[in-house]
Amino acid sequence: MNQVAVASDRKLSAEIAKRRTFAIISHPDAGKTTITEKVLLHGGAIQKAGTVKGKKSGQFARSDWMQMEKDRGISVTTSVMQFPYGGALVNLLDTPGHEDFSEDTYRTLTAVDSCLMVIDSAKGVEERTIKLMEVTRLRDTPILTFMNKCDRDIRDPMELLDEVEDVLNIRCAPISWPIGSGKGFKGVYHLLRDEIICYKSGLGHAVQESRIIKGLDNPELDKLMDGGADAFREEIELLKGASHEFDQAAFLAGELTPVVFGTALGNFGVDHMLDGLVKWAPAPQARATESRTVEASETPFTGFVFKIQANMDPMHRDRVAFLRVCSGRYEQSMKLHHVRLGKEVRIADAVTFMAGDRERAEEAFAGDIIGLHNHGTIQIGDTFTEGEKLKFTGIPNFAPELFRRILLRDPLKSKQLQKGLIQLSEEGAVQVFRPTKNNDLIVGAVGMLQFDVVVSRLKTEYKVEAVYESISVSTARWLTSDDPKALEEIKRKAPENIAIDGSDSLTYLAPTRVNLQLAQERHPKVEFRTTREH
Ligand code: GDP
Repeated sequence: MNQVAVASDRKLSAEIAKRRTFAIISHPDAGKTTITEKVLLHGGAIQKAGTVKGKKSGQFARSDWMQMEKDRGISVTTSVMQFPYGGALVNLLDTPGHEDFSEDTYRTLTAVDSCLMVIDSAKGVEERTIKLMEVTRLRDTPILTFMNKCDRDIRDPMELLDEVEDVLNIRCAPISWPIGSGKGFKGVYHLLRDEIICYKSGLGHAVQESRIIKGLDNPELDKLMDGGADAFREEIELLKGASHEFDQAAFLAGELTPVVFGTALGNFGVDHMLDGLVKWAPAPQARATESRTVEASETPFTGFVFKIQANMDPMHRDRVAFLRVCSGRYEQSMKLHHVRLGKEVRIADAVTFMAGDRERAEEAFAGDIIGLHNHGTIQIGDTFTEGEKLKFTGIPNFAPELFRRILLRDPLKSKQLQKGLIQLSEEGAVQVFRPTKNNDLIVGAVGMLQFDVVVSRLKTEYKVEAVYESISVSTARWLTSDDPKALEEIKRKAPENIAIDGSDSLTYLAPTRVNLQLAQERHPKVEFRTTREH
């Protein structure tokens, strides 16, 4: 290798090594928005808290794009924010808070290398966190945990850890431990640093210098705790005996989560979490394709599309495809190979996402997300390379749970409707099923609001007015089998349940769970899948 190549290789590995790409998972109201803001504050991406999302201040984040979204005060979009922290370059992929857009959230989780789980410490593990953790298990993503809202009366911290271990089936390694809670919240003891970091309320809008007491035995702790220090020391002794120590390998395998306590609102403990992210969370990981594993350190560019966002910018009716760079380096005006289409495309104007602002991407490396302008030629799951025919795997569709028949107000527009629905399904906005027995068009969604988005977009972008009708479908499964005869048989025996989805995959639409179960029993050679690869 010549010297220039060696130098550029070194730069590439250094760039990759410093990247940390993560997303936050939590139950609504646990504090995801608040912690996102504090993370950006620590990353220097914003100067003052209270500027990102004005659910409370009445000012909306730049990412809020649809009128509907503004009306409802929810964030439909997944935006990407990049900022430096502690020598690393962090990519935070925001996910829609509203569970009706959970498909987008699920797919975003396929594009990260680690996740932060935020738990409301007054409540413990809640239902949506359970669901999102299941999704992270598809790739054994390493999980960091933030026990939020310690400035409120929280549950017994030991009980919280037990609950995480039992319900989410992941071992907990406490990194910090709360000293009191609610009005009596005094700070945390950092087990690895052997330091007490003192909390002061009312300083949450900025990054604060905290008072630090070195060592658990320090008499300063007795002053701080007003007689409770010895009991606290005992508690820590017990904790050390009863809990798991941090174990890097187990963390990387998704089997153990480091846990920090704090308050996002009070901007306390967030830096402990970020320190852990930089120190322990993985740099961009190798990714599987249908033919081989692609290492992040490979020089040729590769990446896959995990999300398509329409109308990011209300001034320009554009669609942006979010691409996760898996290897190599993107540079402006680069020619890329669009593998599915077998075509070369020049990417002149990709965008990066610095703390919500869109900027022209000059260069990007493995772990980064870039936005490609999409004029209908890019679908979720598409792979881009510098020529190699690769297809990244693990970007699934999730079985919808809600179904509606969609009808036109103007029957002459059925072509537009079909086109619109297929495109929207390629974007992942919704799923479409065409029963083989009739001409119905069935829309499947994971959340109710997806239906509203589709009707609204059909109207503005495709000039089609459509309405929904209820239909007796309760769940869908994608059908596959090693035995083509078995598939023919189910098509023949249960024609009223068979449909083709937006990408021509065979699907079973079940009116009830019992029906699904019976069909599974009757057709043992057929696999009924809850996810479908793009
Ligand atoms: P999200 O739905 O998960 O994005 O949650 P938000 O960040 O919007 O927070 C939900 C509510 O909890 C808001 O009223 C926040 O101000 C509040 N909240 C978030 N973090 C804390 C915290 O550490 N302490 C307290 N007391 N309230 C918090």
